[in-house]
Formats: sequence, structure tokens, C-alpha cells
Amino acid sequence: MNKSPQRIRHETRLRILEVVSVRPVTPLMLRITLGGDDLEGFASPGHGDHIKVFFPQAGEDIIVPVLGPEGLAFPAGAPRPEMRDYTPRYHDPRRRTLDVDFVLHGDGPASTWAAQARVGQKIVIGGPRGSLIVPDDFDWYLLAGDETALPAIGRRLEELPSTARAIAFIEVAGKDEEQVIRSSASVDIHWLHRDGQQPGNNGLLLDAIKAAEFPDGDCYAFIAGESSMSKAVRAHLVSERSFKDEWIKAAGYWLRGVADAHEPH
Ligand SMILES: Cc1cc2nc3c(=O)[nH]c(=O)nc-3n(C[C@H](O)[C@H](O)[C@H](O)COP(=O)(O)OP(=O)(O)OC[C@H]3O[C@@H](n4cnc5c(N)ncnc54)[C@H](O)[C@@H]3O)c2cc1C
Repeated sequence: MNKSPQRIRHETRLRILEVVSVRPVTPLMLRITLGGDDLEGFASPGHGDHIKVFFPQAGEDIIVPVLGPEGLAFPAGAPRPEMRDYTPRYHDPRRRTLDVDFVLHGDGPASTWAAQARVGQKIVIGGPRGSLIVPDDFDWYLLAGDETALPAIGRRLEELPSTARAIAFIEVAGKDEEQVIRSSASVDIHWLHRDGQQPGNNGLLLDAIKAAEFPDGDCYAFIAGESSMSKAVRAHLVSERSFKDEWIKAAGYWLRGVADAHEPH
């Protein structure tokens, strides 16, 4: 049986959307619903998909780049927007809305924009450019990450069929940051609380995964969050748990101490 994840490409488009609602999911996670006719044709079939969000400078209007054969071109002389990656959490094609969950970590243009977001503000997004579709018939799924991966992990748990089994390890600041995630699959969620430890490579996820007993059978692992954590978990799964490298997606979603960190994903 072929269990290789499939990559699909999407037409890359820039879209100008409007903030239609802002509401807290938990004290440090804000759900911003974006909407508008520009969402026509938007598709995000993979839980690990991301859009690029273009954040205007504080107090400035949005800048709309032009997408040409050479990539993105910005109007000369205008302040360049900052770009960061975010997960499409829920897409409602009928209502033409897209929910994006922002971690309010307190530093950086994305977190700062989210904290001030108001209904009616405009924002530019691009993508997703592609999706990775992981087959639903693995014996079980391992999902691990910090709160930046919670939108992707939440999607995966919600989208898995009832025949699937998943074990999730999710690191959050504390009990208040746990979310209710509904799934028809057989799911075991382990919430790990930092309780004052700093986010990043604090060892919480790695230690919990090292100590866990795993079921038998073929597993697909999705790991995302702070980059060094993600790498360390992948290395453990491959070298000490005999996971197949091609059945692991380990992504760096941010890097401690580095703004706009880019990792291949
Ligand atoms: C594919 C993908 C999907 C993602 N999906 C989401 C998502 O749905 N929701 C979400 O909130 N994030 C998501 N992220 C992570 C998000 O893009 C980064 O956290 C990004 O750095 C935030 O930008 P910023 O402008 O707030 O901070 P930056 O300007 O990039 O960084 C400023 C400082 O803050 C630190 N920092 C960045 N993020 C965090 C954090 N979460 N906690 C603590 N310190 C941090 C950096 O190390 C740096 O020191 C995703 C990333 C990727 C690659």
C-alpha cells in the first residue's frame, strides 16, 4: 500500500481581506476571522498548509505587492510589509470567511498586529501555494507541537476519520491555554504546561515523547513549533524509535530569539 503523502500545488494569488471578527480562544490565542469576495477560489486541503500574511507598519495602510514572474514586487518608496506564515484554521467557502488563530507572544509585527486588530481593517494574504495530503489509513498518528502548531494539530484532529487513532502532545503556557478540540477519531491528547518556563526548546515536548509508550503499527508523525524542539523530536523518533524519515513532517514554525525565522517546510 502506498502511504506516501501527496503534494498538490495551488494557483498562487494575493487576496485583500477584511477583519470581520476578533475573539479570544484562550487568553493568549486570538481568533481573527478574515472575509471578503477575494476568498473566492481559496483552497486549503492540508492541515499543515500556510498562508503568508502581509502586516502593514503600525498606523500605515496595507501595501499590496504585485506577483510577477520574478516573485513579489513592492511599490517603490513604500514601507515594506512584514510577512509571516499562518495556518488557515477554518475556511467557510459559503460565507467566504477564513479563521486564523494568532498566538499573542508579545513581540514582533504579527503578534503586535493581531493584538490591535479591529473589525473593518484590511490585510493582504497570499497562498497557500501547496498542500501536503497525508493518507488517512496509517495505523496511528503522532502530533506534537507548541501553541503555534495548535491550529494545524487542531485541524488534523478534527479532520481525521472515525477509524483513525491519534496521540497528541501539545505544549502551552498553562491550563488556561488548553483548547477544546472535537474529533471523531480515537484521540489521546497530552497537554504540557510550561507553568513559567520559557517557550522554545525547554525540553517539555521531547521529554514527554521520550517517556511515552507508543502503539504498534505504521505511524505518521507531524511535529511543529519552535525549530530546535522540532529537530530534536525528529532526531529522537528516527534514531531511538525507528520511525521512517519519510513518514515524519517536522517543521520549524519559529526560532527562539530570531525574528522572521525561515525554515524549509
Ligand atoms: C507553516 C507555519 C504555520 C504557522 N502557523 C501559525 C499559526 O497558525 N498561529 C501562530 O500564532 N503562529 C503560526 N506560525 C508561527 C509564526 O509564523 C511565528 O511565530 C512568527 O515568528 C510570528 O511572527 P511575529 O512577527 O509575531 O514575531 P517575529 O518578528 O517573527 O519574532 C520576534 C521575536 O518573537 C519570538 N517569537 C516568535 N514567535 C513566537 C512564539 N510563538 N512564542 C514566543 N516567541 C516567539 C522570536 O523568536 C523573536 O525573538 C506558523 C509558522 C509556520 C512556518
